[in-house]
Amino acid sequence: VRVAPAEIPGDGPVKRIFLLTYRDISQARRIDRMRSDFVANASHELRTPLASLRGFIETLQGPARNDLKAQEKFFGIMHEQATRMSRLVDDLLSLSRLELRSHIAPDDPVDLAPLLGHVRDSLLPLAKDLDVTVSLVVPDKPVVVRGERDELIEVFENLIENACKYGQEGKKVDVILHGGEGGEAEVVVKDYGPGIPAEHVPRITERFYRVNVEASRSKKGTGLGLAIAKHILTRHRARLLIHSEVGKGTTFTVRF
Ligand code: ADP
Repeated sequence: VRVAPAEIPGDGPVKRIFLLTYRDISQARRIDRMRSDFVANASHELRTPLASLRGFIETLQGPARNDLKAQEKFFGIMHEQATRMSRLVDDLLSLSRLELRSHIAPDDPVDLAPLLGHVRDSLLPLAKDLDVTVSLVVPDKPVVVRGERDELIEVFENLIENACKYGQEGKKVDVILHGGEGGEAEVVVKDYGPGIPAEHVPRITERFYRVNVEASRSKKGTGLGLAIAKHILTRHRARLLIHSEVGKGTTFTVRF
């Protein structure tokens, strides 16, 4: 609320009035706070591997200068940290590109069954490492939606990779495509892992939100995958529904 004293001009006695302007800035404040939280989080995420890299460089220049065995180990860790920073920067760039294009709906015809087959095949090495079986069930008829192939690949890669990584204990992941005439389609990605406690479910699509930060880091996560997926799906006018039961597993459904 702003109060501004004013005078009504003219002959005769001066009349003093007050102008009262009211503007709801809570939304603008919230956006400002989200922006600065995001910058703080991103900086923190980049700072951690950078600090570790600096520490190892100093050790390699000093105490470990002549220790070949230590050098080999440290170079391995430094490579991991640099890779982590690259992943993070790639995800940050993806997010900012998507924000710039959020108002344009992608419109190419995309056949979902072969796309899901391609994603499943690309994740087979990871699934094998984690000892998880990924099954894919698709209908006989093509299920075609309007969208952008590469972006949809990114969404399903993220959902299926998460299901394998976080639902590893369940040993299997089911990917099911349902489709009807007229562009309706639904993709279900279901795991049988530990599930997500209810209080976290509404927040896991927020940038950098993780149920367990250490678990996410050890699984090479950046905390941005689901935020990117949600942005892409919004652009595609599709919805992401999350259902999870602790001890039973988690189901992500993408509804076009
Ligand atoms: P990350 O890079 O950490 O995997 P995401 O945005 O992809 O980031 O996911 C955010 C968080 O949601 C993860 O850190 C994890 O805690 C949780 N999560 C995502 N998918 C699953 C799942 N299938 N089962 C259990 N937890 C999950």
